[in-house]
Amino acid sequence: MTTNQQAYDAARAIIPGGVNSPVRGFGSVGGTPAAMVKAAGPYLTDLEDNTYVDLVGSWGPMLLGHNHPAVVDAVHKAVDAGLSFGTSTPGESQLAELIADIMPVERVRFVSTGTEATMTAIRLARGATGRNLIIKFAGCYHGHSDGLLAAAGSGLATHALPDSAGVPEAITSQTLVLPYNDEEAVKQAFEAYPDQIAGIITESAPANMGVVPPKPGFNRFLREITTANDAVFIMDEVLTGFRATKTGGWGLEHADWAPDLFTFGKVIGGGLPVASVAGTAAVMDQLAPLGPVYQAGTLSGNPIAMAAGYATLTNATDDAYATIAQRSTQLQSMVADALKAEGVNHSIQSAGSLFSIAFGTADHGVTNYEDTQAQEAFRYGLFFHAMLDGGVYLAPSVFEAWFISAAHDDAAMNKIADALPAAAKAAAA
Ligand code: PLP
Repeated sequence: MTTNQQAYDAARAIIPGGVNSPVRGFGSVGGTPAAMVKAAGPYLTDLEDNTYVDLVGSWGPMLLGHNHPAVVDAVHKAVDAGLSFGTSTPGESQLAELIADIMPVERVRFVSTGTEATMTAIRLARGATGRNLIIKFAGCYHGHSDGLLAAAGSGLATHALPDSAGVPEAITSQTLVLPYNDEEAVKQAFEAYPDQIAGIITESAPANMGVVPPKPGFNRFLREITTANDAVFIMDEVLTGFRATKTGGWGLEHADWAPDLFTFGKVIGGGLPVASVAGTAAVMDQLAPLGPVYQAGTLSGNPIAMAAGYATLTNATDDAYATIAQRSTQLQSMVADALKAEGVNHSIQSAGSLFSIAFGTADHGVTNYEDTQAQEAFRYGLFFHAMLDGGVYLAPSVFEAWFISAAHDDAAMNKIADALPAAAKAAAA
């Protein structure tokens, strides 16, 4: 039998770092990633035949659990009809209409990754306003396009620096990186660069620096200040959309307002590569072939991916969301109780059903990237490995959200409960 170690060694010999996305590596927790070969409901199985309760859910898409029968059936039917046509298909409009039934958008353009969606949204903001500068918030992740791999400059409202080798300063200098949840910083940026800011992009509830919920009214403030300055407001719901709640992170504020553009991904593809930029007709119709803003994709709107997304969203019933919310609350209590029993200082940050632990933050809480960076992150590696030994697969980084699905039943929850005491003890070290 091939072992996980052998599979990892083989992968490292041919794939940089042995992974096709850095977050899958165990760099921040140490050890050897298992090679998964099977997934069903709340479980993942590796090639040594170990089964884990999965709390990563392919980083978000598996809202209904793995291999949901209706999704698998829809995919089989789509495969039988043809893998890719390179033309319009009815499935594209069906999924777009479903998205527009749930979220306040008039147009939807499908792409294959969240990175493409946010990149297109930024291009649209610039095309629609004729301006260049974009505001993003430190700790928010919007995919890996050059201008969004930007780290904060030395002061408020200064031009950002590249966050990755290979990204020219000329590109990140068009991005202003501000502290999250800081209205004053946003006001200062608009004052410092009058008529130069094309738009603001934000995660509706950041979940890529751990979960950091918006202060009440923060998203609405962003809507108001962009409107007042004729700038485009982009709400990135790639991770939170149809996941944190049915209406994503935007829905958390029970809002009666909407951004100009949303970006969606993950859940809308149900495990296949789908993302979208969506929003008002006024901005979206700037896209080619109607307007001057170019965007394209050979496999955009792929029929199999559309079928998986449609089956996922139509099976994401109110009952499914209620189950996910209940399981998430239950899991948060289980984790908090286990950590408290071992005296581990922590806080649990949540946004809808998404949550994460921040170690050593009980006294001051977490409202932005600086706070999450200041936590006792080393405790997570110890916690993570004890959970893994107990048969629970968590994201290999403290800065990721926990993803629970509608398939996490009592048996899965019991397995997590059994693993938690040893993990809490390990984290207390
Ligand atoms: N935006 C957000 C909020 C994300 O969480 C991610 C990925 O995790 C992206 C964009 C990029 O999506 P993708 O990995 O599909 O390119």
